[in-house]
Amino acid sequence: MNGSIRRAFRTILVPAMLTTLAVAHDEAPGTCKDCAAWNETQKPFRVYGNTYYVGVRGLSSILVTSDRGHVLIDGGLAESAPKIAASVLELGFRMEDVKFILNSHVHFDHAGGIAELQRLSGAKVVASQSSAKVLQEGHSGADDPQFGSIRGIPPVAHVKVVKDGETLTVGPLQLTAHLTPGHTPGGTTWTWKSCESERCLNVVYADSLTPVSADGFLFTRNTVYPSVLEDFENSFNKLDMLPCDILLTSHPDASDLWTRLEKHDHGAGADAFVDPTACRRLVAAAREWLQARVGAERGG
Ligand SMILES: [Zn+2]
Repeated sequence: MNGSIRRAFRTILVPAMLTTLAVAHDEAPGTCKDCAAWNETQKPFRVYGNTYYVGVRGLSSILVTSDRGHVLIDGGLAESAPKIAASVLELGFRMEDVKFILNSHVHFDHAGGIAELQRLSGAKVVASQSSAKVLQEGHSGADDPQFGSIRGIPPVAHVKVVKDGETLTVGPLQLTAHLTPGHTPGGTTWTWKSCESERCLNVVYADSLTPVSADGFLFTRNTVYPSVLEDFENSFNKLDMLPCDILLTSHPDASDLWTRLEKHDHGAGADAFVDPTACRRLVAAAREWLQARVGAERGG
């Protein structure tokens, strides 16, 4: 963010659940004041049915399991990989049974551990076309709003490309890719169904929808990523329409996961994670933030 926009932002009420993300990448290249806290160990737990949280405390990784292989989504920081693998083992699953590793978006805090997790599992890494390029190169291009302000990632050797709406199958598992660009050009939201006996629920793993940028990147007039505002709008509309019983987000705080886990542990059970309005509320908060950012750019 440049100085005038940063000043404008101080006067804007950013939705509480997104404030932690506002500053996440707003720092000198290569440094990460949040990383140690993000990478704190989190005990893995079942969210619903065959959906488990295996991430570190501040960065989600999700395991979806079946007796014919598993799918892992997001790899946290490079230093999160051994913790994610340990959580998979702690739940009684084997890394070798992970068939696909998916990603929300290629920033160091969600994709940093993927190369190592691929090495440990032998899984195929799957991403949108734009994300696949960044994963293979190990750093984003100038069309990433945070280009130049964030660290790179250990590159991933082989990446299979998925299209918008494409469904991946592992045994009985079916996970669908929904391209939700804006935060990055390759951002992807993933959906699937998880069941407990007869009750099957729609799970949404929503990508970041926040307009965070490096100094000098303007969302309102950008020649390198000219469709960024249109992309955000389409992503908001898409997420708004998804069947969404359980929302998980790449940053667990963005969907109040820890409050929900506490309720879960204090007797509410799986229902603590269920909220059919959660996707729409996430979109409403993100829309508000983008509007504030656009207003600050146009006004300042
Ligand atoms: Zn990001």
